[in-house]
Amino acid sequence: MSHEPSERDFKRRLTRQVKIGNVHVGGNAPVCLQSMTSTHTHDVDSTIAQINRLAAAGCDVVRVAVPDRKDTEALKEIVRQSPMPVVADVHFHFQRALEAIAAGVHKIRLNPGNIKDRKQVNEVIRACRDAGIPIRVGVNEGSIVERQDQQLRAAERENLAADRSNLVGLMVRKMEDYIRIFEENDFHDVVLAAKSPDPIIVIDAYRAISRRFDYPLHLGVTHAGPPETGRIRSIAALASLLAEGIGDTIRISYAADPIHEVEDGKELLCSLGLRPRTEPELIACPTCGRIEVDLFKLVTQIRTKLASLKTPIKVAVMGCVVNGPGEAEGADVAVFAGRGRGVIYVQGEQVRSVNEDQIVEALYDEARAFASRVERGEARLSRGEVSITPA
Ligand code: SF4
Repeated sequence: MSHEPSERDFKRRLTRQVKIGNVHVGGNAPVCLQSMTSTHTHDVDSTIAQINRLAAAGCDVVRVAVPDRKDTEALKEIVRQSPMPVVADVHFHFQRALEAIAAGVHKIRLNPGNIKDRKQVNEVIRACRDAGIPIRVGVNEGSIVERQDQQLRAAERENLAADRSNLVGLMVRKMEDYIRIFEENDFHDVVLAAKSPDPIIVIDAYRAISRRFDYPLHLGVTHAGPPETGRIRSIAALASLLAEGIGDTIRISYAADPIHEVEDGKELLCSLGLRPRTEPELIACPTCGRIEVDLFKLVTQIRTKLASLKTPIKVAVMGCVVNGPGEAEGADVAVFAGRGRGVIYVQGEQVRSVNEDQIVEALYDEARAFASRVERGEARLSRGEVSITPA
């Protein structure tokens, strides 16, 4: 799936562009959203079922792990059935990379530090060039210390233990070493990633790498944890970088169903104006001592109902008629609830007043009717200019 660039895109740092199947990454292309399956890749049916769910939620590119030959053997069918480009995640075994490329994947994720023999890395690069696909080259804080060479590993560990502030410098140097391998092969179809579980390291590392290279950047906080805590760590780093114009594709990674990665990544891109909304946006008041209804329950019920609409109307659910109207300025459809009733507004005009137990249905009916009018061209979305005055 591709998206029209938004007005925010002009602030983005210009990078080279690569193509992952039909998705452009870098240059003027919109920031694209990636996720990774959590199924065993050789289980084609489960993997495709999860890929379809991720695509329906707004994912643009999906990555699958290929630890074994039986996984790469499944790739041909997965690539054939997937509604979006497929990236093969390769560690240690260059043969898996060659098999994945032969199976028709659209990109390889490869950490050259995990493959000792340079000739093998060169062979993968050659195969990617022949297939016309890019490679994502990554350094992770966890794998920054040399794995293969024991002496080098000891020296790097000591260096890092003595001065953690050296970590970003070490990540950048490691990235330079890796990129040299690709450039010596005259291969420039690469995407870079520099991940850590620490959001501050992520911000510093990507800032440094974006100053040093013009390759497109894949942003992510690795091993962020469950959504409840990982969400904050991920968004802290990714939002900071995206707001500076750094980042061409993102993946939020949680220890949970990857659907949450896509939902949160999509909301992040929409919130920053980097991706147009295609569904209703719900705003709601946090409630306070003026509240007279069970607003949290109302919000949950309305959110579920609105999920069936595919027009980016703005809906506000507010807990009182005193401050609610002011706080809901700009909403296309709004309800102000209190004293057992809900007063509903459509683009600033009061249209209904209903009992509390009818609020969900009445608000949904008005939202659906307004969305239909927008789709027919009979109304247009508020761009924040709607003003709501209590009747
Ligand atoms: S809308 Fe009313 S109830 Fe909700 S936070 Fe504002 S003042 Fe409180």
